[in-house]
Amino acid sequence: MSTIICPKCGSSAIKERKKQTPKERNQDNKNRMRHAYKCETCKGLFGRVYEYKEYSPEYQCYQLEFTVGGFRDGYKTIQIEQADGYANITVYPPVIRYDGIQYTAHIPLSDWEDIKDDLFNQLFVLSWKKNYMNHDVMDGTQWEVILTFDNRKPLKISGSNDYPILYNQLLDLVNPYFDLLGVEIAGYHTRLNKR
Ligand SMILES: [Zn+2]
Repeated sequence: MSTIICPKCGSSAIKERKKQTPKERNQDNKNRMRHAYKCETCKGLFGRVYEYKEYSPEYQCYQLEFTVGGFRDGYKTIQIEQADGYANITVYPPVIRYDGIQYTAHIPLSDWEDIKDDLFNQLFVLSWKKNYMNHDVMDGTQWEVILTFDNRKPLKISGSNDYPILYNQLLDLVNPYFDLLGVEIAGYHTRLNKR
């Protein structure tokens, strides 16, 4: 497992938690979980270990959709949807580039499970803010993540010229599939070089 980074402040001073708080102990069966980590810097709790694995977000999530782009160059979307024994990947290129070719691929279910494990247990998307907004930049880059679950409302996170601490790690997850299907992410390498 790679280094755990706090999704709220970026600190790597993280303590693993073993015990439930009284509040966590009082949850009903379905939701019974404890936060896996505590950040020593911002004191935030994040990561979720479910007593019943089948209620965990990584078990219940069946679709990831990620859109990124800008007004000038258009938006591209990747959609990974769980199917029976595999996952289906569809890439929608920016409309201005759209040439009518269907960009789809199948990946093994284990690859999709790895992606979900990263989303919930490395990137901690459940602890991200719902919106990241920089009002000082006109146009620029907009992005959105939508996760769909069997047992809970969809999780929507979006941003405009502002990004969560672990945004690049999210791009690292989806970029190979954009690459595979021949669609680049605007600004991806620029942002990597800046960090
Ligand atoms: Zn923190």
